[in-house]
Amino acid sequence: MASSTVVVGGGIAGILAALMLKDRFENVVLIENSDELGGLLRSDHYDNQYWFDKGTHIPALTYNEEINKYLFPKQLYNENLWLRFSYLKPGNYFNNNLNNESSSIDITSYGKEKYCKMLIDLFNSNLEPKLHYINAYEQIMDLFGETLTREVFDQISYKFFGVSLKKLSQDAFKLVFNPRIIAFDEKKTKEFKKIKFFDLRLSLRSPIINESITYFYPVEGGINLWIKMLEEKMGNKGIKILKNTSISDIKLKDGNISELILGEGNECLKNISHIVWTAPTHLLAQRYKIINIESLKNESNQNLKRATYLYHFICNKPFLTDRQYVTCYDPIMRTFRVTLYNNFQKSDQFRCSVEVLSEDNIAIAEEIIFKELITMGIVSEDTLIEKSYSYKLGSYFPIITPYMEELHSNIVNTVSDKISNITLVQRSGNQFFMADVLENVYKCVSKIIKY
Ligand SMILES: Cc1cc2nc3c(=O)[nH]c(=O)nc-3n(C[C@H](O)[C@H](O)[C@H](O)COP(=O)(O)OP(=O)(O)OC[C@H]3O[C@@H](n4cnc5c(N)ncnc54)[C@H](O)[C@@H]3O)c2cc1C
Repeated sequence: MASSTVVVGGGIAGILAALMLKDRFENVVLIENSDELGGLLRSDHYDNQYWFDKGTHIPALTYNEEINKYLFPKQLYNENLWLRFSYLKPGNYFNNNLNNESSSIDITSYGKEKYCKMLIDLFNSNLEPKLHYINAYEQIMDLFGETLTREVFDQISYKFFGVSLKKLSQDAFKLVFNPRIIAFDEKKTKEFKKIKFFDLRLSLRSPIINESITYFYPVEGGINLWIKMLEEKMGNKGIKILKNTSISDIKLKDGNISELILGEGNECLKNISHIVWTAPTHLLAQRYKIINIESLKNESNQNLKRATYLYHFICNKPFLTDRQYVTCYDPIMRTFRVTLYNNFQKSDQFRCSVEVLSEDNIAIAEEIIFKELITMGIVSEDTLIEKSYSYKLGSYFPIITPYMEELHSNIVNTVSDKISNITLVQRSGNQFFMADVLENVYKCVSKIIKY
């Protein structure tokens, strides 16, 4: 029987892995446990007419031409079907202000006394940041000084991660949040930014557009149309796609996975040459008893992830901002990010999605989230909700602590020591954003292909 190369997880990581593997191996099987491919790049479709995505998951060409060849087929350049942007229009809400120009926070919104104190601290901060910090708090302190770190960035850390910067690993905060601030007018900022010290800390009011980046979004419908296109491409290449399929057991022989038992146990995949695992790593370790995770845990009560709740709204009036997405830094508000579809696509439905990061199982009423849109100045006070839908996403936002990083690398090392024919490419810590995840997949799968 011919051997199979298997990819587990049909998100964008699994799709790239399967397309790459098919160039080298005859039988490639992609296993996805839900009824659709795409993971976070799926879209929600209600009543056959309302489209929403799972937050701002807009694909952009990567800096790797090879990845682009696999994931950005020429159909995406058909202007009747796909819109192209060289930047996404970001905004942010912070200190009672909706900033319609940038995602950076604007400290000029504070009163004179606080603003001056923040600047004095910033001017006195460390000239040359260190290479190693014990946590993100020390790192941000070195960049911005005490007032901004304590009163702004630490509050944002609580809001996004549910913990202080002191608990986060170095770079964890910088990974999801670009901590440059707006502190002056454009002319002064440009002058300051000629000096490296300020360039690291200050942001222009209107960010410079990097024309070399291309984002894609459908003229109509949600981002899952990209996934549908890639699914068709995989089908044409002869990749076998098993949706709605879970792996109920794994059989090991001589340090290799030899069989995957699927579903209720009626089906199995035998003669497996290699597995690329893009689904959560701990699942593999725990569910199939490859490792006793409890034995690797040293602080078992430490929370490792934030739940994400999604709120989709159809409003009866246009939005008050032209931003495509708005990040809300205000620590009191529950909103993390708002995606405004009408600012991507022309549509007479006024649609937006709100992502909320929270403790697990703490859902907030839709009315409260909608009121926040009014408070932020995104919708007018007399706007009414025509339709709303909300639910908890299956995907979590990682709380990147030294403990989490250690646990993850322990799991990866133990699995890799025990099993030779598996490659784990699940996103973790510093590989969170799509571009980084894809680069990691490309690197790992290239090794398998060359071997
Ligand atoms: C709240 C939030 C906001 C984000 N915002 C951004 C952003 O603004 N920009 C950005 O670039 N990135 C963002 N990301 C990260 C981005 O979504 C990921 O980098 C990208 O989706 C990674 O793709 P993936 O295939 O690894 O994972 P996923 O998209 O999660 O796909 C994993 C797939 O595996 C399947 N699966 C799970 N378990 C199994 C199993 N046991 N067997 C078979 N299949 C399984 C799932 O159903 C899913 O289809 C965000 C993530 C979150 C959670």
